[in-house]
Formats: sequence, structure tokens, C-alpha cells
Amino acid sequence: MGCVIMSYKLLDGKDLAARMKKAMSKEVEKLASEGIVPGLAVIIVGNDPASRIYVNNKRKDCEEVGIKSFEYALPEETPEEELLGLIDALNQDSSIDGILVQLPLPRHLDEVKVIRRISPEKDVDAFHPFNVGELMIGRPVFAPCTPAGVMELIKDANIDVAGKNCVVVGRSNIVGKPMAMLMLHENATVTICHSKTRDLKAMCSKADILISAIGKANYITADYVKEGAVVIDVGINRNAEGKVTGDVDFPEVSKKASAITPVPGGVGPMTRAMLLKNTIKACNMHNKKSLS
Ligand code: NDP
Repeated sequence: MGCVIMSYKLLDGKDLAARMKKAMSKEVEKLASEGIVPGLAVIIVGNDPASRIYVNNKRKDCEEVGIKSFEYALPEETPEEELLGLIDALNQDSSIDGILVQLPLPRHLDEVKVIRRISPEKDVDAFHPFNVGELMIGRPVFAPCTPAGVMELIKDANIDVAGKNCVVVGRSNIVGKPMAMLMLHENATVTICHSKTRDLKAMCSKADILISAIGKANYITADYVKEGAVVIDVGINRNAEGKVTGDVDFPEVSKKASAITPVPGGVGPMTRAMLLKNTIKACNMHNKKSLS
């Protein structure tokens, strides 16, 4: 009987996130011995089922490492002024180090206005224009969780980024654009693609590092991928049976890739871990501790 030899490295986000959480638990324990408990406030407006799952997961993650989580579940029809008032109060509350507003918000609420109201030093999602600007000039205090999680995975696997061709597919403010910026700061040569890109396949097949954040199941097939490329799949898609898949056709692409993330178990757990990391960082900053 022949055996199958895997020629690619699996970029296991679940494993790395677990290692990071272990280290963070120790850090939080040390803070607790000094009477300091990091606090994360999560605001959810309305009844979006996916948002509810994300918020529940955030609470569990906080519990796991010893961060105190505060949840504010507001009804769908909450007036904007009320939400902004809550953010103002949390900005002033010294037991809160991080504030996160779960997106998307109901249509009557102005997301940009709401995010702008969060104090940048408590903006652990790094969506506030101040933090976006800091990222742009290469000195981020907080990096957005998903792209930052991808960078951790790449570093942990000792993948050299400098000088490589990196293609990011997707240009959203929360994934594609900051992802491209982080890769650029690590000296990759970066191309950002989107739905209007001509000949996406040709662009992607030049990538040494291909990062897909589209949101279309199995869109990136093997013919988009160069032999030996590193492939990062940010996409989260659910099929009719509710099964989660990425943007990348894993069985076929993994035959060509030198390293690849699975979905689930790749970027998702890293996003969650980075939120905890940003919250602890915010706590250290608020308590004027040196940052690790
Ligand atoms: P958006 O819908 O905001 O952005 C999708 C991007 O993909 C857009 O820039 C869009 O282009 C581009 N796009 C769509 N179709 C194509 C196509 N056929 N060819 C090329 N580009 C295309 O999504 P997000 O950035 O918020 O998220 C992307 C994916 O990542 C989703 O599946 C989401 O669920 C997942 N996600 C995963 C996270 C994780 O932790 N793993 C965290 C956050 C998101 P255009 O701008 O032209 O419309």
C-alpha cells in the first residue's frame, strides 16, 4: 500500500492560537497579582445570528485567558445617540481597556460615526481612522485582528516575506487593505486585487504569497496558484448544510502550495487570539506598563 506524503506545511491557526492563549493567560495572571484585570466591552446591536455567535466566542475566549468581558446587547431599534452615549461612558470607564462594536450594525446606524466615537486607545479592533492612519505610516499601536493574525501565522512558520510577490484578493477596510499594508511593511511587493481586477487568475499565479479574502467558496482553484506558493485563506463561507469552507479549493491547491491554511482552523482562531492580545496591550498601555 502506498502512503500519501504531504508536501505542504499546514499553517495551523488553531494550534498557534492555543499557544498564544497559554502565554496570554500567564501574562494576565501576572497582572492580576498586581490587582490589574484587563477588561473588554463588547457591544452588539440587534439579533444577527452570526454576530451573536461571534460575540459568544469572544466572551468564551476572554474567560479562557482571564480577561473580564462586559457585554452590552442592545435592541435592533436602538437610537444612534443612545449607542454613542454608551460608547462615551465606556471611554471614561477605567475598568474597560478595550471597546468593540460588533459589525455589521443595523442600517439606521452610521458605522463610521460609531467607530469614530471609540477612544483610539481602546479601539482593540483597530478600525478607528486614527489607528488606520498609524498602521498606514508603519507604527500601529493596534493592528486589525485578522491581518495581524495572518502575520503571526507567517512569522511562526518562519516564512520570509521580504522581496516576495504578495497578492491580496479583497480590498475591504477590515481585511484586504490592512493586510496589504502589513505585508508592505514587511517588505513584500504587494498587489491588491478586487472584483474589477482584469484577469485575476494571471495576477494570482504570480504570487509567492497569495492571500484570499473574497468570501466565495472554492473560488481560488489550483490554476490560480503558482507551484510552491504560500496560500492564506481568510474566507469564511457556509454551504447549504452549514459547513464552513474557505475561498480556496484546499484539496487541489494544497498539492501545489508549499504552505497553506485550512478552513476552519486557520485564520479564524488567529483573529480571535489577536483580539485578546490587543486587549492585553491596551491594558498594559492604560496601566503604563512596557509593551511586549
Ligand atoms: P467584503 O465583502 O467586505 O470584501 C470582499 C472583497 O472581495 C471585496 O474587496 C471584493 O471586491 C472582493 N471580491 C469579491 N468577489 C471577487 C471576485 N470574484 N474576484 C476578486 N475579488 C472579489 O468582505 P471582508 O473583507 O469583510 O471578508 C472577506 C472574507 O473573509 C469573508 O468570507 C469573511 O467572512 C471572511 N472573514 C474572515 C475572518 C476570519 O477571521 N477568518 C475575519 C473577517 C472576514 P470589490 O471591493 O470590488 O467589491
